[in-house]
Amino acid sequence: MTEKYQVHRGAYELLKGAEDPNTKNIAQWLGGVLSAVDEGKPIVYNQFTFWGDTMVAMDLQPLAPEMWGLLPGAASSFPALDAAHDLGIPPEMCWAGRYVIGATLLDQLPPPSMMVLPSYPCDNCKTAYQVIAELTGAPLYLVDCPYWVEDDEEAMEYWVNQYKGAISFMEEISGKKLDYDRLKEVAEESNRYIEYWLEGKELMRVKPLPMKGPWGGGEILTSIGLPIATDAIKARLDALKARVANGETAVPEEKVRVVWNYLPVLWNPKLFNWMAEMGAVITVTINSWTSFEPIDTSTPESIIRGMAKRALHGYMARQGRGSSDIIIEDTLNAFEEYQGDCIIVNGAFGCKWLRGSYGYLSDLCRERGIPVMMFDADIGDSRVVSDEEVKARVGEFLETVMERKKGGA
Ligand code: SF4
Repeated sequence: MTEKYQVHRGAYELLKGAEDPNTKNIAQWLGGVLSAVDEGKPIVYNQFTFWGDTMVAMDLQPLAPEMWGLLPGAASSFPALDAAHDLGIPPEMCWAGRYVIGATLLDQLPPPSMMVLPSYPCDNCKTAYQVIAELTGAPLYLVDCPYWVEDDEEAMEYWVNQYKGAISFMEEISGKKLDYDRLKEVAEESNRYIEYWLEGKELMRVKPLPMKGPWGGGEILTSIGLPIATDAIKARLDALKARVANGETAVPEEKVRVVWNYLPVLWNPKLFNWMAEMGAVITVTINSWTSFEPIDTSTPESIIRGMAKRALHGYMARQGRGSSDIIIEDTLNAFEEYQGDCIIVNGAFGCKWLRGSYGYLSDLCRERGIPVMMFDADIGDSRVVSDEEVKARVGEFLETVMERKKGGA
Protein backbone atom coordinates (compact mmCIF):
# COMPACT_ATOMS: atom_id res chain seq x y z
CA MET A 1 0.00 0.00 0.00
CA THR A 2 2.67 2.50 1.02
CA GLU A 3 4.52 2.18 -2.30
CA LYS A 4 1.64 3.78 -4.07
CA TYR A 5 1.35 7.50 -4.89
CA GLN A 6 5.07 8.07 -4.42
CA VAL A 7 5.04 11.40 -6.25
CA HIS A 8 2.39 12.76 -3.92
CA ARG A 9 4.04 11.22 -0.87
CA GLY A 10 7.27 12.92 -1.86
CA ALA A 11 5.45 16.24 -2.31
CA TYR A 12 3.87 15.82 1.12
CA GLU A 13 7.26 15.20 2.75
CA LEU A 14 8.57 18.38 1.14
CA LEU A 15 5.59 20.53 2.05
CA LYS A 16 4.58 19.31 5.50
CA GLY A 17 6.99 21.42 7.55
CA ALA A 18 6.21 24.67 5.70
CA GLU A 19 5.34 27.79 7.66
CA ASP A 20 3.54 29.57 4.81
CA PRO A 21 -0.23 29.19 5.45
CA ASN A 22 -0.99 28.38 1.80
CA THR A 23 1.55 25.57 1.63
CA LYS A 24 0.46 24.34 5.06
CA ASN A 25 -3.11 24.05 3.85
CA ILE A 26 -2.13 22.05 0.76
CA ALA A 27 0.10 19.81 2.89
CA GLN A 28 -2.70 19.13 5.36
CA TRP A 29 -5.11 18.13 2.61
CA LEU A 30 -2.51 15.96 0.90
CA GLY A 31 -1.55 14.37 4.21
CA GLY A 32 -5.22 13.76 4.97
CA VAL A 33 -5.74 11.92 1.69
CA LEU A 34 -2.61 9.80 2.17
CA SER A 35 -3.57 8.94 5.76
CA ALA A 36 -7.05 7.95 4.59
CA VAL A 37 -5.40 5.61 2.06
CA ASP A 38 -3.06 4.09 4.64
CA GLU A 39 -5.68 3.76 7.37
CA GLY A 40 -8.50 2.61 5.11
CA LYS A 41 -10.73 5.60 5.91
CA PRO A 42 -13.44 6.68 3.47
CA ILE A 43 -12.45 9.04 0.66
CA VAL A 44 -15.11 11.09 -1.08
CA TYR A 45 -14.43 12.26 -4.63
CA ASN A 46 -15.89 15.72 -4.80
CA GLN A 47 -15.80 16.60 -8.48
CA PHE A 48 -14.24 20.04 -8.71
CA THR A 49 -17.52 21.95 -8.70
CA PHE A 50 -18.71 20.42 -5.42
CA TRP A 51 -17.42 22.15 -2.30
CA GLY A 52 -15.71 20.25 0.48
CA ASP A 53 -17.61 21.91 3.36
CA THR A 54 -20.10 19.11 4.06
CA MET A 55 -17.28 16.54 4.01
CA VAL A 56 -15.23 18.65 6.40
CA ALA A 57 -18.24 18.78 8.73
CA MET A 58 -18.66 15.00 8.56
CA ASP A 59 -14.94 14.37 9.03
CA LEU A 60 -14.78 12.62 5.68
CA GLN A 61 -11.75 13.09 3.46
CA PRO A 62 -12.57 15.08 0.31
CA LEU A 63 -10.50 14.40 -2.77
CA ALA A 64 -11.20 16.54 -5.81
CA PRO A 65 -9.43 14.25 -8.30
CA GLU A 66 -8.65 17.07 -10.73
CA MET A 67 -6.68 18.87 -8.00
CA TRP A 68 -4.62 15.72 -7.44
CA GLY A 69 -3.29 16.14 -10.97
CA LEU A 70 -2.58 19.84 -10.55
CA LEU A 71 -0.65 19.85 -7.29
CA PRO A 72 2.79 21.45 -7.33
CA GLY A 73 5.21 18.67 -8.27
CA ALA A 74 2.50 16.38 -9.66
CA ALA A 75 3.83 14.18 -12.45
CA SER A 76 3.00 14.94 -16.08
CA SER A 77 -0.56 13.90 -16.84
CA PHE A 78 0.42 12.62 -20.32
CA PRO A 79 0.56 8.92 -19.31
CA ALA A 80 -2.91 9.22 -17.75
CA LEU A 81 -4.25 11.04 -20.81
CA ASP A 82 -2.75 8.37 -23.07
CA ALA A 83 -4.32 5.62 -20.95
CA ALA A 84 -7.72 7.30 -21.31
CA HIS A 85 -7.14 7.57 -25.05
CA ASP A 86 -6.30 3.85 -25.25
CA LEU A 87 -9.59 3.10 -23.53
CA GLY A 88 -11.35 4.95 -26.34
CA ILE A 89 -11.95 8.31 -24.68
CA PRO A 90 -11.92 10.95 -27.44
CA PRO A 91 -9.34 13.78 -27.32
CA GLU A 92 -12.15 16.34 -27.51
CA MET A 93 -13.11 15.49 -23.94
CA CYS A 94 -11.44 18.17 -21.86
CA TRP A 95 -8.44 17.37 -19.70
CA ALA A 96 -10.48 17.26 -16.47
CA GLY A 97 -12.37 14.14 -17.52
CA ARG A 98 -9.56 12.44 -19.43
CA TYR A 99 -7.08 12.90 -16.59
CA VAL A 100 -9.37 11.41 -13.95
CA ILE A 101 -10.20 8.39 -16.11
CA GLY A 102 -6.57 7.80 -17.09
CA ALA A 103 -5.21 8.31 -13.58
CA THR A 104 -7.78 5.80 -12.32
CA LEU A 105 -6.70 3.26 -14.94
CA LEU A 106 -3.04 3.72 -13.98
CA ASP A 107 -3.81 3.62 -10.25
CA GLN A 108 -2.32 7.08 -9.80
CA LEU A 109 -5.34 8.28 -7.84
CA PRO A 110 -6.42 6.92 -4.46
CA PRO A 111 -9.69 5.13 -5.18
CA PRO A 112 -12.95 6.62 -3.90
CA SER A 113 -15.29 5.10 -1.36
CA MET A 114 -18.03 7.23 -2.90
CA MET A 115 -18.39 10.09 -5.37
CA VAL A 116 -20.49 13.24 -5.41
CA LEU A 117 -20.99 14.97 -8.73
CA PRO A 118 -23.27 17.88 -9.58
CA SER A 119 -25.04 17.72 -12.93
CA TYR A 120 -23.21 20.94 -13.98
CA PRO A 121 -20.95 22.12 -15.55
CA CYS A 122 -20.66 19.90 -18.62
CA ASP A 123 -21.32 16.57 -20.28
CA ASN A 124 -17.58 15.82 -20.18
CA CYS A 125 -17.61 15.57 -16.39
CA LYS A 126 -20.85 13.61 -16.19
CA THR A 127 -19.57 11.10 -18.71
CA ALA A 128 -16.13 10.84 -17.11
CA TYR A 129 -17.50 10.12 -13.63
CA GLN A 130 -19.78 7.41 -14.98
CA VAL A 131 -16.68 5.76 -16.43
CA ILE A 132 -14.91 6.11 -13.08
CA ALA A 133 -17.89 4.58 -11.28
CA GLU A 134 -17.69 1.65 -13.69
CA LEU A 135 -13.93 1.27 -13.25
CA THR A 136 -13.85 1.58 -9.45
CA GLY A 137 -17.25 0.22 -8.50
CA ALA A 138 -17.68 3.21 -6.13
CA PRO A 139 -21.24 4.49 -5.66
CA LEU A 140 -21.95 7.81 -7.38
CA TYR A 141 -24.47 10.44 -6.31
CA LEU A 142 -25.51 12.86 -9.04
CA VAL A 143 -26.69 16.11 -7.47
CA ASP A 144 -29.20 17.15 -10.08
CA CYS A 145 -29.37 20.89 -10.72
CA PRO A 146 -32.32 22.40 -12.58
CA TYR A 147 -31.59 24.38 -15.73
CA TRP A 148 -32.51 27.70 -14.14
CA VAL A 149 -32.56 28.33 -10.39
CA GLU A 150 -31.69 32.01 -10.06
CA ASP A 151 -35.17 33.39 -9.41
CA ASP A 152 -37.29 30.27 -9.33
CA GLU A 153 -38.33 29.21 -5.82
CA GLU A 154 -39.53 25.80 -6.86
CA ALA A 155 -36.30 25.02 -8.71
CA MET A 156 -34.24 26.21 -5.73
CA GLU A 157 -36.27 23.97 -3.43
CA TYR A 158 -35.53 21.05 -5.72
CA TRP A 159 -31.81 21.87 -5.69
CA VAL A 160 -31.68 22.18 -1.89
CA ASN A 161 -33.38 18.78 -1.62
CA GLN A 162 -30.84 17.33 -4.02
CA TYR A 163 -28.09 18.74 -1.80
CA LYS A 164 -29.68 17.14 1.25
CA GLY A 165 -29.77 13.91 -0.73
CA ALA A 166 -25.99 14.15 -1.22
CA ILE A 167 -25.55 14.45 2.56
CA SER A 168 -27.81 11.44 3.21
CA PHE A 169 -25.84 9.51 0.60
CA MET A 170 -22.53 10.27 2.34
CA GLU A 171 -24.06 9.34 5.70
CA GLU A 172 -25.34 6.06 4.37
CA ILE A 173 -22.12 4.99 2.64
CA SER A 174 -19.77 6.13 5.41
CA GLY A 175 -21.96 5.16 8.34
CA LYS A 176 -21.29 8.61 9.86
CA LYS A 177 -24.06 10.91 10.97
CA LEU A 178 -23.81 14.63 10.28
CA ASP A 179 -23.50 16.52 13.55
CA TYR A 180 -25.34 19.83 13.18
CA ASP A 181 -23.30 21.60 15.87
CA ARG A 182 -20.18 20.74 13.88
CA LEU A 183 -21.88 21.82 10.65
CA LYS A 184 -22.60 25.20 12.24
CA GLU A 185 -18.93 25.64 13.21
CA VAL A 186 -17.85 24.76 9.67
CA ALA A 187 -20.39 27.17 8.15
CA GLU A 188 -19.24 30.00 10.43
CA GLU A 189 -15.60 29.36 9.57
CA SER A 190 -16.47 29.21 5.88
CA ASN A 191 -18.26 32.57 6.17
CA ARG A 192 -15.00 34.07 7.43
CA TYR A 193 -13.17 32.50 4.50
CA ILE A 194 -15.64 33.93 1.99
CA GLU A 195 -15.46 37.39 3.54
CA TYR A 196 -11.70 37.43 2.83
CA TRP A 197 -12.26 36.09 -0.67
CA LEU A 198 -14.70 38.89 -1.48
CA GLU A 199 -12.42 41.54 0.00
CA GLY A 200 -9.57 40.33 -2.22
CA LYS A 201 -11.81 40.27 -5.26
CA GLU A 202 -12.67 43.94 -4.69
CA LEU A 203 -9.01 44.95 -4.27
CA MET A 204 -8.16 43.40 -7.63
CA ARG A 205 -10.10 46.27 -9.20
CA VAL A 206 -7.37 48.74 -8.26
CA LYS A 207 -5.68 50.32 -11.26
CA PRO A 208 -2.82 49.72 -11.90
CA LEU A 209 -3.29 46.16 -10.69
CA PRO A 210 -1.48 45.61 -7.37
CA MET A 211 -0.76 41.89 -7.77
CA LYS A 212 -0.69 39.41 -10.63
CA GLY A 213 -4.09 37.80 -11.00
CA PRO A 214 -6.20 35.86 -10.90
CA TRP A 215 -7.56 35.97 -7.36
CA GLY A 216 -9.32 32.94 -5.93
CA GLY A 217 -9.00 29.95 -3.69
CA GLY A 218 -8.76 26.21 -4.26
CA GLU A 219 -9.54 25.68 -0.57
CA ILE A 220 -13.25 25.52 -1.38
CA LEU A 221 -12.57 22.01 -2.65
CA THR A 222 -10.16 20.81 0.01
CA SER A 223 -10.63 22.39 3.38
CA ILE A 224 -13.11 25.27 3.53
CA GLY A 225 -14.62 25.39 7.00
CA LEU A 226 -11.31 24.56 8.67
CA PRO A 227 -9.28 27.41 10.25
CA ILE A 228 -6.26 26.36 8.16
CA ALA A 229 -8.13 27.28 4.96
CA THR A 230 -9.15 30.65 6.40
CA ASP A 231 -5.53 31.29 7.43
CA ALA A 232 -4.40 30.58 3.87
CA ILE A 233 -6.75 33.05 2.19
CA LYS A 234 -6.16 35.64 4.91
CA ALA A 235 -2.40 35.43 4.30
CA ARG A 236 -3.00 36.06 0.59
CA LEU A 237 -5.33 38.92 1.38
CA ASP A 238 -2.84 40.50 3.80
CA ALA A 239 -0.15 40.31 1.11
CA LEU A 240 -2.49 41.95 -1.38
CA LYS A 241 -3.47 44.70 1.07
CA ALA A 242 0.19 45.40 1.82
CA ARG A 243 0.92 45.79 -1.88
CA VAL A 244 -1.96 48.23 -2.28
CA ALA A 245 -0.82 50.21 0.77
CA ASN A 246 2.76 50.37 -0.56
CA GLY A 247 1.66 51.30 -4.06
CA GLU A 248 3.22 48.14 -5.50
CA THR A 249 2.01 47.00 -8.89
CA ALA A 250 1.84 43.70 -10.76
CA VAL A 251 4.00 45.01 -13.61
CA PRO A 252 6.23 48.11 -13.87
CA GLU A 253 4.04 49.61 -16.60
CA GLU A 254 0.48 48.38 -17.04
CA LYS A 255 -0.23 48.51 -20.75
CA VAL A 256 -3.26 46.24 -21.09
CA ARG A 257 -5.83 45.05 -18.56
CA VAL A 258 -7.19 41.69 -19.59
CA VAL A 259 -10.47 40.11 -18.55
CA TRP A 260 -9.83 36.41 -19.07
CA ASN A 261 -12.77 34.25 -19.96
CA TYR A 262 -12.80 31.38 -18.92
CA LEU A 263 -10.17 29.17 -17.28
CA PRO A 264 -6.44 29.90 -17.30
CA VAL A 265 -4.35 27.56 -19.44
CA LEU A 266 -3.58 25.31 -16.50
CA TRP A 267 -0.79 23.40 -18.24
CA ASN A 268 1.11 26.63 -18.71
CA PRO A 269 1.09 28.72 -15.53
CA LYS A 270 3.95 30.71 -17.06
CA LEU A 271 1.70 32.10 -19.79
CA PHE A 272 0.40 34.87 -17.53
CA ASN A 273 3.98 35.75 -16.56
CA TRP A 274 4.92 35.88 -20.23
CA MET A 275 1.98 38.24 -20.81
CA ALA A 276 3.10 40.34 -17.84
CA GLU A 277 6.47 40.84 -19.55
CA MET A 278 4.52 42.52 -22.35
CA GLY A 279 2.78 44.75 -19.78
CA ALA A 280 -0.50 42.79 -19.84
CA VAL A 281 -2.19 41.98 -16.54
CA ILE A 282 -5.00 39.53 -15.79
CA THR A 283 -7.49 41.37 -13.63
CA VAL A 284 -10.01 38.59 -13.30
CA THR A 285 -10.84 35.19 -14.76
CA ILE A 286 -14.50 34.55 -15.36
CA ASN A 287 -14.51 31.09 -13.84
CA SER A 288 -13.72 32.75 -10.50
CA TRP A 289 -16.03 35.72 -11.14
CA THR A 290 -18.60 35.05 -8.59
CA SER A 291 -20.34 36.45 -5.59
CA PHE A 292 -21.21 34.59 -2.44
CA GLU A 293 -23.70 35.36 0.27
CA PRO A 294 -22.89 34.57 3.90
CA ILE A 295 -24.60 31.46 5.21
CA ASP A 296 -27.35 32.04 7.78
CA THR A 297 -26.23 29.72 10.57
CA SER A 298 -29.34 30.06 12.73
CA THR A 299 -30.80 26.60 12.00
CA PRO A 300 -29.64 23.33 10.38
CA GLU A 301 -32.06 24.01 7.53
CA SER A 302 -30.71 27.52 6.89
CA ILE A 303 -27.13 26.22 6.93
CA ILE A 304 -27.76 23.51 4.37
CA ARG A 305 -29.79 25.92 2.24
CA GLY A 306 -26.94 28.44 2.40
CA MET A 307 -24.34 25.83 1.45
CA ALA A 308 -26.47 24.57 -1.43
CA LYS A 309 -27.00 28.09 -2.76
CA ARG A 310 -23.35 28.99 -2.41
CA ALA A 311 -22.23 25.87 -4.26
CA LEU A 312 -24.08 27.19 -7.30
CA HIS A 313 -21.57 30.01 -7.54
CA GLY A 314 -18.26 28.16 -7.37
CA TYR A 315 -15.69 27.53 -10.10
CA MET A 316 -17.45 26.57 -13.35
CA ALA A 317 -20.66 26.03 -11.38
CA ARG A 318 -21.97 29.55 -11.74
CA GLN A 319 -21.63 29.79 -15.51
CA GLY A 320 -21.73 26.10 -16.40
CA ARG A 321 -25.48 25.78 -15.97
CA GLY A 322 -28.56 27.50 -17.30
CA SER A 323 -28.53 29.85 -20.27
CA SER A 324 -25.56 31.62 -21.86
CA ASP A 325 -26.80 34.89 -20.35
CA ILE A 326 -24.89 34.17 -17.14
CA ILE A 327 -21.43 33.88 -18.66
CA ILE A 328 -22.04 36.71 -21.12
CA GLU A 329 -23.31 39.08 -18.43
CA ASP A 330 -20.54 38.08 -16.02
CA THR A 331 -17.93 38.73 -18.69
CA LEU A 332 -19.30 42.12 -19.69
CA ASN A 333 -19.86 43.19 -16.07
CA ALA A 334 -16.31 42.15 -15.18
CA PHE A 335 -15.03 44.16 -18.14
CA GLU A 336 -16.77 47.28 -16.81
CA GLU A 337 -16.00 46.80 -13.13
CA TYR A 338 -12.34 45.91 -13.61
CA GLN A 339 -11.83 48.61 -16.27
CA GLY A 340 -10.65 46.05 -18.79
CA ASP A 341 -9.05 46.93 -22.11
CA CYS A 342 -9.93 43.64 -23.77
CA ILE A 343 -11.39 40.19 -23.30
CA ILE A 344 -9.56 36.94 -24.05
CA VAL A 345 -11.58 33.74 -24.24
CA ASN A 346 -9.91 30.36 -23.86
CA GLY A 347 -12.11 27.35 -24.47
CA ALA A 348 -11.51 23.62 -24.59
CA PHE A 349 -12.87 21.85 -27.69
CA GLY A 350 -15.33 19.83 -25.65
CA CYS A 351 -16.64 22.78 -23.64
CA LYS A 352 -19.87 22.93 -25.59
CA TRP A 353 -21.83 25.27 -23.37
CA LEU A 354 -18.96 27.81 -23.35
CA ARG A 355 -18.43 27.61 -27.08
CA GLY A 356 -22.16 28.06 -27.58
CA SER A 357 -21.84 31.54 -26.09
CA TYR A 358 -19.07 32.69 -28.47
CA GLY A 359 -21.33 34.12 -31.16
CA TYR A 360 -23.47 36.15 -28.76
CA LEU A 361 -20.47 37.38 -26.84
CA SER A 362 -18.56 38.50 -29.92
CA ASP A 363 -21.66 40.29 -31.30
CA LEU A 364 -22.09 42.19 -28.05
CA CYS A 365 -18.39 43.04 -27.86
CA ARG A 366 -18.47 44.34 -31.44
CA GLU A 367 -21.51 46.52 -30.63
CA ARG A 368 -19.72 47.94 -27.58
CA GLY A 369 -16.32 48.33 -29.24
CA ILE A 370 -14.64 45.85 -26.89
CA PRO A 371 -11.62 44.02 -28.37
CA VAL A 372 -12.16 40.30 -27.93
CA MET A 373 -10.10 37.29 -28.98
CA MET A 374 -11.21 33.67 -28.79
CA PHE A 375 -8.78 30.81 -29.04
CA ASP A 376 -8.70 27.06 -28.46
CA ALA A 377 -6.53 25.41 -25.85
CA ASP A 378 -7.20 22.46 -23.65
CA ILE A 379 -7.04 23.46 -19.99
CA GLY A 380 -4.54 20.76 -19.04
CA ASP A 381 -3.17 19.07 -22.16
CA SER A 382 -0.39 20.99 -23.88
CA ARG A 383 -0.48 18.66 -26.87
CA VAL A 384 -3.90 19.78 -28.13
CA VAL A 385 -2.78 23.31 -29.00
CA SER A 386 0.89 24.09 -28.49
CA ASP A 387 2.52 26.75 -26.36
CA GLU A 388 3.92 28.43 -29.52
CA GLU A 389 0.48 28.61 -31.06
CA VAL A 390 -1.12 30.00 -27.91
CA LYS A 391 1.58 32.65 -27.53
CA ALA A 392 1.37 33.60 -31.20
CA ARG A 393 -2.39 34.19 -30.94
CA VAL A 394 -2.31 35.95 -27.58
CA GLY A 395 0.80 38.02 -28.38
CA GLU A 396 -0.54 39.29 -31.70
CA PHE A 397 -3.83 40.24 -30.11
CA LEU A 398 -2.20 42.08 -27.20
CA GLU A 399 -0.02 44.07 -29.58
CA THR A 400 -3.10 45.08 -31.54
CA VAL A 401 -4.84 46.22 -28.36
CA MET A 402 -1.75 48.22 -27.31
CA GLU A 403 -1.58 49.89 -30.72
CA ARG A 404 -5.26 50.70 -30.48
CA LYS A 405 -4.81 52.27 -27.06
CA LYS A 406 -1.88 54.33 -28.27
CA GLY A 407 -4.04 55.58 -31.10
CA GLY A 408 -6.70 56.55 -28.52
CA ALA A 409 -9.30 54.25 -30.09
S1 SF4 B 1 -13.53 23.53 -19.05
FE1 SF4 B 1 -15.55 23.10 -19.90
S2 SF4 B 1 -15.42 21.00 -20.64
FE2 SF4 B 1 -13.72 21.30 -19.19
S3 SF4 B 1 -14.52 20.65 -17.22
FE3 SF4 B 1 -14.87 22.85 -17.36
S4 SF4 B 1 -16.93 23.04 -18.15
FE4 SF4 B 1 -16.25 20.94 -18.56
